[in-house]
Amino acid sequence: MPHTRDILHGRYAVVSCHVERPLDDEVWRRFAALQERRPGRFAIAALMRPPSEGEDEALWLARAHDAQSRGPFGLHTHWTAPDHARPTGGDPAALVREQGDWLRAGGLEPSFFCGGGWYLDEGVAEVVAELGYADCSATSFRPAYLEPGARHLQLAEPSWLELESGRRLLEVPTTHSIGMLARGLLAPFRRALVHAYFHDTDLLDRRRSAALRGALAFLGMKRTPTDLTELQSGLRPTKTMSFANSRA
Ligand SMILES: [Zn+2]
Repeated sequence: MPHTRDILHGRYAVVSCHVERPLDDEVWRRFAALQERRPGRFAIAALMRPPSEGEDEALWLARAHDAQSRGPFGLHTHWTAPDHARPTGGDPAALVREQGDWLRAGGLEPSFFCGGGWYLDEGVAEVVAELGYADCSATSFRPAYLEPGARHLQLAEPSWLELESGRRLLEVPTTHSIGMLARGLLAPFRRALVHAYFHDTDLLDRRRSAALRGALAFLGMKRTPTDLTELQSGLRPTKTMSFANSRA
């Protein structure tokens, strides 16, 4: 394990997966096998979408406990529907609180949050901080599908976000998709931390799945593999910014 005190002076990498369809047996089998295998020596964080209405809660909880035993574990909220991640109304923060409480009641101990479609607003950030999670909803790139003006936090490197309540939220932005790694976009990336992500459903496609395994092996050679839990306990970003002034 790296000396976390120096974590921003090394060249580290972490990997997370947005686990969108944990109740699909084939998707889950492939994700569980990959998490077990630790490609590139990465303990892949499972950021899981909780069940929506009509989905099997008991099976979901059992699988989430398995994922938590294999690596870092977190909440990935889809606000509108399983296949529609960003909110379209209501109170986005309330759903995050509800899901965080539900996970805890189910005996789980999530430590991370990632908003579906990279959505994050002040209210959500407050709840995430209250729940004691670190946040991975920011990205260092602008997701191409976002409309101009859509809520999103763009950040180049890990930072403390100061919230209106006075709370501080550790933000560990996502920096690379697997496609970006595969296209060689790591080479010009000089920053201390690479945070790569993929979707569990990528594993259904043989070519994508092979690209993913290749990219993680490559990343593990180019960078020191660590994981989100290790970062959360050791990372002390020098940068602090006010969330209110960070709107991208
Ligand atoms: Zn998602």
